[in-house]
Order: sequence, then structure tokens, then C-alpha cells
Amino acid sequence: MKVGILGAGQLGRMLALAGYPLGLEFGFFDTVSDAPAGQLAELGVGAYDDEQALARFAESLDVVTYEFENVPVRAAKYLAGHVPVYPPPVALEAAQDRVAEKTFFQGLGVPTPIFHPVLTKNDLLDGLERTDLPAVLKTRTLGYDGKGQFVLREKADVDRAWEALGGQPLILEAFVPFDLEVSLLAVRGRAGGIGFYPLVENHHRGGILRMSLAPAPGLSPELQTQAQSYASRVLERLEYVGVLAIEFFQLGGQLYANEMAPRVHNSGHWSIEGAETSQFENHLRAVLGLPLGSTASRGHSAMLNLIGLKPDFARVLAVPGAHLHWYGKEVRPGRKVGHVTVRADSAGELEAATQAISALL
Ligand code: AMP
Repeated sequence: MKVGILGAGQLGRMLALAGYPLGLEFGFFDTVSDAPAGQLAELGVGAYDDEQALARFAESLDVVTYEFENVPVRAAKYLAGHVPVYPPPVALEAAQDRVAEKTFFQGLGVPTPIFHPVLTKNDLLDGLERTDLPAVLKTRTLGYDGKGQFVLREKADVDRAWEALGGQPLILEAFVPFDLEVSLLAVRGRAGGIGFYPLVENHHRGGILRMSLAPAPGLSPELQTQAQSYASRVLERLEYVGVLAIEFFQLGGQLYANEMAPRVHNSGHWSIEGAETSQFENHLRAVLGLPLGSTASRGHSAMLNLIGLKPDFARVLAVPGAHLHWYGKEVRPGRKVGHVTVRADSAGELEAATQAISALL
């Protein structure tokens, strides 16, 4: 069986690494020739609007999936005319625009931060009349890792916010004074079976994920149930197939959906060593119509991203329970170039090992 993956970044690379033990073959499609998954499998280079290149790519494939959510929906729909494409392109559509995404959540009864679509400066002023400060102004599309965001702390920030982001479709969101940021990784198979990983606690800095703890320490079974109920509605409505990540703000006993990613997700990397079946393997099982694997966690895990730095590998590997993943990318400031997962049998051991790794970064 040969799986085609749109996007050849580290997520695609880790999908391939999870698929080789299952005897799978891979082909990648990306717009750049030096993408990290190209070191593992054949990489077709082309533009997403080049239908001839997409058709050539689809020729020998049994299924197509994607590793990033900004694949143009047209490209996914075009490919779906040649070969099964999972997750369904409608999931891309729902996730690519923050207003559509939050409207979709609300239609399912999934709470979100209060939001207002903003096209003009007047819309922004209007929105601010109806939203308490602080508030967050974001681009509606193509935002990631906190890029394209501006936090307004007082009315006087309007001009600077507009200068930074005005002139493109925007969304103004009430700032949620969250206790924690958590995410739920869910998987749905072609036959409709669903699995959920335990909620993950996420720590961001500068809008970029730095560390994930799984299972989220101290989160109640009620919160897990709440998250699963919200995710089930999304999976069923979209007739979803594959791994889906939903990021939530947790405030008291309530979760507010911030965004979803119709793909494997950085906050699920811990599952490679920390779960019975990794998110990567389960995504492949799902899109191929194979039985899903157990999502149960094995002990306690912490995943730390390597951002813009290459640590001393030997010192990382000397920490008990540490597993290094290097993506084969050139190191640049602010760029995710790898991650380290620490797995331990007790919370105490995890704490000690995580501190040892942090000290090396
Ligand atoms: P996003 O690109 O929407 O995931 O935002 C990146 C990060 O900015 C989030 O992980 C939060 O830490 C923060 N953030 C974004 N939107 C909000 C909000 N409405 N309230 C509070 N924090 C936010």
C-alpha cells in the first residue's frame, strides 16, 4: 500500500517513520525540494494549483492525506477525484478560516472565545465596543505559531494593531484568562470507530508550543469527558477520518475551543513513546481503513520542542527516559528542528528528567 502525503515537513516524516514497520510505502508532494521528509521517501515538487503535477503524484497511490492544514482545498478536492483523500477536504475548509472554524464549533454547541469578524477599521472599533479588553486580533487565514496576532490591551492600541494587521480578513477575539491550555488528539477510522488520547497540557511562549505534558497532570475525568464530547461532535459532523487535534483554553471546569488541526499535531508527539499506539501510526491506520490501535498512555510523558537550537545529542540521550527526534532541518532562529520526549513511570521521575533536559536547552 502506498500513501501520498501533501506536505513533506517533520509531520510527514514522522508519519513515514511510523508507517514503514507496517510495510507501507510513501510519496510526498511539496512546493520546496529540501523538505525534511524528502530524506526518507520520494518527493514530488510542484505548485498546489498545478493539476498535471497533482495527477502525476496521484498515479501510484492508494490513499492521500496531508500533514498541514493550509493545503489549498481545491488541490485536495481535485485529488479526491483520482484517489481516496482523508481527512475529508471539508475538514480543511472548516479549519482554514478562524471565523468559519469558530462558527462551526458554535453550531455544534462547542464553546469558543467571543469573536467578531473584522474587515475594516470600523469593524475593529465596533468589535472593541462589544468585547472586554484585553482582546486578540488575528488573521483569519494562514496564521500559525502565534504569527499574525496582536494583543490589544487598551483602546489606544487600535492604531498600532490596525497598522500591523489591517488590510486582510481578521478576527477579533476576547482574551480568555485561561488557567491552562490543553489539547485533545482524537482519531476516527473509515468504519467510524473513534479513539481519544488523554488530554495534553500545553505550554506556549511567544505563540509557539514549547512543552506538552501527557496525560495532563491534575485534569479531572469530567474535563476529559467534556473534551471527548466536543471532539465527537466535530468528528461525526465532518464524517472525519484520521487524527484530529483540538486546542482548548481551560478556565475553571469549562473548555473553550481555540482551533483545530485536521492532521497529526505537535502536541501529540509524546505518543510515539508515551502511548500504546502513536498518533502517526493511528492516523495511517485510520486513513487506510485498518483497525485503530489503543490510545492508552504508558506512564507519564513530557515533550519539549527544540526551537532554533541543536543540543548536545549525547547529553540529551544520557538523561533516563529521554528520546531524541531530529528532523533533519537547518537550524534557524524560531524554527522547530526537533523534539525530545521524556517518558517515565512516575510523576516524580518525569519531573527530574524534564528538568535535566530543560537545562540542556
Ligand atoms: P493560536 O494561533 O490561535 O493558537 O494562538 C497562539 C497562542 O496565543 C495560543 O496558544 C494562546 O496562548 C494565545 N491566544 C490566542 N488566542 C487567545 C485568546 N483568545 N485568549 C487568550 N490567549 C490566546
